[in-house]
Amino acid sequence: MSLNLALILRESVRADPDAALLHFGGRTWTRREVDAVSDRVAAGLLAGGLGSGDRVAVQLPNIPEFVFAYFGILKAGLVMVPMNPLLRPPEIAHQLARSDARVMITERGLLEQALAGASDLPDLVLVVVGDAEVVTERPVLGFEDLHVDGAEPMLEPTDAEATAVVIFTSGTTGRPKGAELTHVQLYMNCTHAGRLGGLGVDDVVVGVLPLFHVFGLSSVLDAAVRWGSALVLVPRFDADAVLDAIERHRATVLPGVPTVFVSLLAANIAGRDVSSLRLGLSGGAALSPTHLNAFEAAVPSATILEGYGLTECASVATFNTGRGARKIGSIGTPLWGTEVRLVDSAGEVLRATGPDHVGELEIRGHHVMKGYIGQPEATAAVLRAGWLATGDLGYVDGDGYYFIVDRKKDVILRGGYNVYPREVEEALLQHPSVMEAAVVGRADDRLGEEVVAFVVTEPGLRLDPDELIAFARERVAAYKYPRAVTVLDALPQGATGKVLKRVLAGAPDPVSH
Ligand code: ATP
Repeated sequence: MSLNLALILRESVRADPDAALLHFGGRTWTRREVDAVSDRVAAGLLAGGLGSGDRVAVQLPNIPEFVFAYFGILKAGLVMVPMNPLLRPPEIAHQLARSDARVMITERGLLEQALAGASDLPDLVLVVVGDAEVVTERPVLGFEDLHVDGAEPMLEPTDAEATAVVIFTSGTTGRPKGAELTHVQLYMNCTHAGRLGGLGVDDVVVGVLPLFHVFGLSSVLDAAVRWGSALVLVPRFDADAVLDAIERHRATVLPGVPTVFVSLLAANIAGRDVSSLRLGLSGGAALSPTHLNAFEAAVPSATILEGYGLTECASVATFNTGRGARKIGSIGTPLWGTEVRLVDSAGEVLRATGPDHVGELEIRGHHVMKGYIGQPEATAAVLRAGWLATGDLGYVDGDGYYFIVDRKKDVILRGGYNVYPREVEEALLQHPSVMEAAVVGRADDRLGEEVVAFVVTEPGLRLDPDELIAFARERVAAYKYPRAVTVLDALPQGATGKVLKRVLAGAPDPVSH
């Protein structure tokens, strides 16, 4: 079967060529314009000697050129390797080598680090967005040089199961791994995830999640194009920039990781006109019910729906749908065509329901990756007989709704008892002075691990760590409450906005009790 994912753009042009597709920096690009520029990029890449399946790395923030490059690469039958702009040269070198990229597209401000990262790859062609008049020893092409003027519209016929993108995981638990996702996997995921969010031609979606990450690429960019919505690009997270984008474009949908919603609350969202927002889509990490309720109270026009996904699943696997069926705190039910099961530590499938029957979630379906590029052993460790082991622990209730209790790697083993940090964090968030909380295990000679907490206070409020410990002690069992609390200005975050617990676990000693 042949299917090129760029068909989603071509079909949207057929439906309404002059509809706005991208808003950025005071300019708007219609669907026809995005289509035409990406045709030129596709022709330029092929004229430069690339052929089917060759890989093109793209290290750009959320700017229109990212979108032009993405659809150009897909149209030419090439493979896109999006890279996080915050990567340092050794990480760039690793991802370029791992994905065997032949071209790297970056921007002027990121060029120095790209040059350093590519120093051992003399054949890699570097392309730069922005001022191309750079003086370097190594030749660098301008993004405009890639364009072939007067290029015919093109859409190379592509095997539906050919790799479309190689996306690196967030690196929350370790070194990022490059998941190979195919045209049909991405097509199915954006189609079903977008439908569940009810995306349509009247929607204006805020594109603040990084497009280099699967959530931004599949569930925001692809889903918006697939369902005919417009996208406001916000290059990097900044609460005021997001609020400005919502106000200026009367945005209706805000996809974000939980820290996006929390940061907007702290930035006094209630003082801005965000009445156009109808939907917040949360994913990528657990959304606390406390934060969900606070956001909906501050923005009465909006409902937050939570999805659960992984890079390895081309984004969403389950969705906590609205229309009266939402269960706050749950990740919802599996997407169309997706199967989810729970297995115990011996690999046996759990049949029982309820919070006492926690197992690891495994996922099977049309959107589970082919594998990690260049890592057959890591692939075999998570993909068995079509089932993807997620590393996440959870349970299912009698209605088929799934609940994540935590990541397997984050569970604290204290004196023989399992402590799920998420449950303790939820208790800490009940305290009126606590805005964010992260609970981790600290090595302990006697107990193996001790439970410790890091918190950020509500703006302008003070907090006594001892009082918070006493507060937690009232709410969770004796083996679970934190024995130490450290107040921080902010929790450490990765580039996708997720809290990096491995950094906290190695952080300087908190005040001990
Ligand atoms: P790495 O695999 O490199 O350590 P990562 O696991 O953060 O990084 P991603 O693919 O970005 O890589 O994230 C997938 C993970 O995010 C899931 O396995 C899960 O732990 C977490 N996650 C996603 N959505 C949710 C959600 N709604 N609730 C709880 N956890 C979630």
